[in-house]
Amino acid sequence: MKMPSLRGAIDAKCRDCGGQEGGDRFWRLHTSACPVTACPLWNVRPIASRNVPAWLASRNPADLPDGFASLTTEAAISLIRGAEGVMHPETGDNSMKSALAASGQGGSAK
Ligand code: SF4
Repeated sequence: MKMPSLRGAIDAKCRDCGGQEGGDRFWRLHTSACPVTACPLWNVRPIASRNVPAWLASRNPADLPDGFASLTTEAAISLIRGAEGVMHPETGDNSMKSALAASGQGGSAK
């Protein structure tokens, strides 16, 4: 029997926990947006592999934008993608203010 890799085991755990909604294609984006910084796997969780913002790639909770842990998964993903240069298709905005507004936590989408 082949021993599973540690990387594979961590990926499988995070995919099962936080990546399910992303399906086969976007599960890494969902685990990238994981807000549970207290989880022992958070620093080694799978993150989207290309063009992630520095504050995500550092894997340091202190680098996350203020309020990131309170965002909905959708708003957090929007912020991550916005930082990649993928603007919101309707507003063209990628600010934290918009992400908070989208998650119903104040701010304005303007
Ligand atoms: S890092 Fe996030 S997605 Fe991975 S196991 Fe922990 S809570 Fe779940």
